[in-house]
Amino acid sequence: MSSAHLFSSVQELAAALAGGRLSSVELTQACLARIRSVEGRVRACNSFDEPGALAQARESDARRAAGRARGPLDGIPVGLKDVIAVQGQPLTCSSRMLANYVSPYDATVAAKLKAAGAILLGRLNLDEFAMGSSTENSAFGPTANPWDLTRVPGGSSGGAAAAVAAGELPLALGSDTGGSIRQPAALCGIVGLKPTYGLVSRYGLAAYASSLDQIGPMGRSVADVALLLGAIAGHDPRDSTSLRAEVPDYGAELAVRRGPWRLGVPREFFGAGLDPEVGAAVQSAIAFYRSRGCEIREVSLPLAAEYAIAVYYLIATAEASSNLARYDGVRYGHRSAAAKDAVDLYFQSRAEGFGEEVKRRIILGTHVLSSGYYDAYYLRAQKVRALIRQEFVRVFQDCDALLSPTSPTAAFRLGEKSADPLAMYLTDIYTISVNLAGLPALSVPCGFTSAGLPVGLQIIGQPFQEAGLLAVAAAYEQAHAWKDRHPSL
Ligand code: GLN
Repeated sequence: MSSAHLFSSVQELAAALAGGRLSSVELTQACLARIRSVEGRVRACNSFDEPGALAQARESDARRAAGRARGPLDGIPVGLKDVIAVQGQPLTCSSRMLANYVSPYDATVAAKLKAAGAILLGRLNLDEFAMGSSTENSAFGPTANPWDLTRVPGGSSGGAAAAVAAGELPLALGSDTGGSIRQPAALCGIVGLKPTYGLVSRYGLAAYASSLDQIGPMGRSVADVALLLGAIAGHDPRDSTSLRAEVPDYGAELAVRRGPWRLGVPREFFGAGLDPEVGAAVQSAIAFYRSRGCEIREVSLPLAAEYAIAVYYLIATAEASSNLARYDGVRYGHRSAAAKDAVDLYFQSRAEGFGEEVKRRIILGTHVLSSGYYDAYYLRAQKVRALIRQEFVRVFQDCDALLSPTSPTAAFRLGEKSADPLAMYLTDIYTISVNLAGLPALSVPCGFTSAGLPVGLQIIGQPFQEAGLLAVAAAYEQAHAWKDRHPSL
């Protein structure tokens, strides 16, 4: 397969496989060759299992030859963020704590992808335990943005976004607790979707903040993301928060949903802190929808704008402090060799195994849950979360979807914000409230800055309206050629 196919859509790849013009082994080898040629610069993969991937690819080719191909993902390589369990593969969460951990079981999404015939190729880098917005908080070192190797890819699913943008893989799964799929998708110029809370099973996802975490698809086009979403969505009895929602054929829905839509523009998401070039790109996307007959209405989300970050850092850290208690060197994870006694073993193992940002959050989360502070912080944050959710319900009474920037800036420089946690936290200002409200949202490329860095448009929808969101995004994508630009590397 020539390198010209590296940026092919999944539809094109599936058609080539179905037509016998390409084998899964050739496609997998092409991805491996691309990984080998760019990984020294991009550093998106924590590890990849070449023999395992080629064995899966041979099985796919054999199935197809026997007339038993399983559908459009059969034979297609998919990378997974290194927080999603695949049996027999490393599951590090980009943490020293799990540096030697191998998963004994498959996450539900991994099992579903295997059943669809996909090739699970590559464990993709992230901020340790998905805590961060730049992929710099990784025990394995940062990933670089393929558009400018001196810049961050965003985070925490930065490895997934960079690998897809760089043509290493056609598709990837990330996870999004406060923006970790959408923000890196925006900064790397790809499409990323955070599903409605409960649409995709979290079974086998290493938990960060369980009431906010969702696994979601990342790809180079809306149609590719629609296809991958359909493969992973659906009720799972092994996740008690999984909902019994109907899973439509998202790809087929794209063809029939044409709008026009009533689109809300939250005034507060265009204020101070928004980079003017990012703002201009998003405004021209809004103008496009208006030109296509959509009704554009200004709406207001004052609580989301004002309190989402504070509320998130109380709730997410509280849940993280509880979820990460299991990494104690006894049941799981790194075990210190220096411990003097049993209690010291816990202290030393956690001190050695966790990075700085993870420790900061465990300490904060433990504090906000502690007696005497619980009501003032955690309980109050839950109340404000309920108000933010209501604010969205109200706005959606007369809007089909909301439009905003995904991130206030394009990709920033490696090291630029790493010494300042608050500056880093502010990069999620437009994405975090969506997780607090449990809503679906995606980021789709909407242009480039004068420095050649991608800009993302965020589209937010009502619960389980993923098909509608994808259609709104596709209408924009089809009228623009952004997805045909690729980093030169
Ligand atoms: N950047 C946010 C954080 O650091 C969101 C991360 C995420 O969505 N996993 O918590």
